[in-house]
Amino acid sequence: MNFGHEKKRVLILVKTYPVPSKNYTETVCTVGVTEEGKWIRLFPISYRYLKDDQQYPKYSWIEVYVTKAVGDNRIESFNPKMDSIKVIRPPLKGKNQWNEAKSLLLPLAANSLCELSQKRDGNISLGIFKPLAVTDFYWEKEASDWTEEEKQRLIQDSLFDIEKKPLEKTPYSFHYRFRCNEPTCTGHDITIIDWEIHQAFRSWRRKYGEKGTLNKIKDKWLNTMLSPSRDTYFIVGTHHVFKTFIILGVFWPPEDYQNTLFN
Ligand SMILES: [Zn+2]
Repeated sequence: MNFGHEKKRVLILVKTYPVPSKNYTETVCTVGVTEEGKWIRLFPISYRYLKDDQQYPKYSWIEVYVTKAVGDNRIESFNPKMDSIKVIRPPLKGKNQWNEAKSLLLPLAANSLCELSQKRDGNISLGIFKPLAVTDFYWEKEASDWTEEEKQRLIQDSLFDIEKKPLEKTPYSFHYRFRCNEPTCTGHDITIIDWEIHQAFRSWRRKYGEKGTLNKIKDKWLNTMLSPSRDTYFIVGTHHVFKTFIILGVFWPPEDYQNTLFN
């Protein structure tokens, strides 16, 4: 049944917000690390249309059959066989969750985004690094609804013979300004496309209104996630078409005080 496919075990680290897709109704880009400690990008996945027990949370382990991605030469990109996705372990709790993710992620850490951008020429398209100084987090107004073409994609019958799920468009994009640990760094201004930020926007808007929600998002993604008590990294990936890095998610484990004390 999985002829020609390779089995991978993946610790899930980031999911991006679904976007309307020409062939798959909507797709999510998922990034994780395999049990061999290698980056992997799973695309496309129509996440909201997976069966309930297949809908993998962040920091769960999944097993999935994949083939090297077609039409995407980024070395970490694989096409998953969607019906093969199986959650084999739910996320750990608290400190164990951070420690497990750290043990796989930190060996992959680059010194800076500038360094990653140089490696990009060698076809590296995923990475993690610690920003030296984050100077701002801001939002920008975007179109409040999908284009007609995108709407058609969301209602097409190509893949699912089941009721379509409305996909809300977030009328804002979110961005970080930062410098990295490189003397020649002139600073970066890049967008973050993590699903969690969109989820926060949708659920908080009902309670705090739009302006209140935007301020709360800034407070969490800037002040909480980058507080001095956190050892914060950005997980980045290149855009399929434009090849520039965008922030896929923030990894913000608590600062390891024991190490700090004895170092
Ligand atoms: Zn830089």
